[in-house]
Amino acid sequence: MSVIKNIKQKVNILQIAGKLGIEVNSQNKARCFNGKFHKHGDRTPSLQFYPETQSYYCFACSIGGDVIELVKTYQDCSTTEAIKMLEGLI
Ligand SMILES: [Zn+2]
Repeated sequence: MSVIKNIKQKVNILQIAGKLGIEVNSQNKARCFNGKFHKHGDRTPSLQFYPETQSYYCFACSIGGDVIELVKTYQDCSTTEAIKMLEGLI
């Protein structure tokens, strides 16, 4: 089993979001953290988490992906660094 597959099976994207410091509301929505780098200024939560598929999508700037992509975008790091971090969290 590949490392990535293993991580994806074990993680809960909402839990990881919480550990990263992203505030997720009761509808599984959050303010887009992409604003950290691109400053699209999210006043209302545009970023939707989908726990069923362990993915997310921002309706304001069209970013999205899986949990590894989430860590990469939030931390502005490489895939290898994201995997290392996730392994430490799960
Ligand atoms: Zn966005």
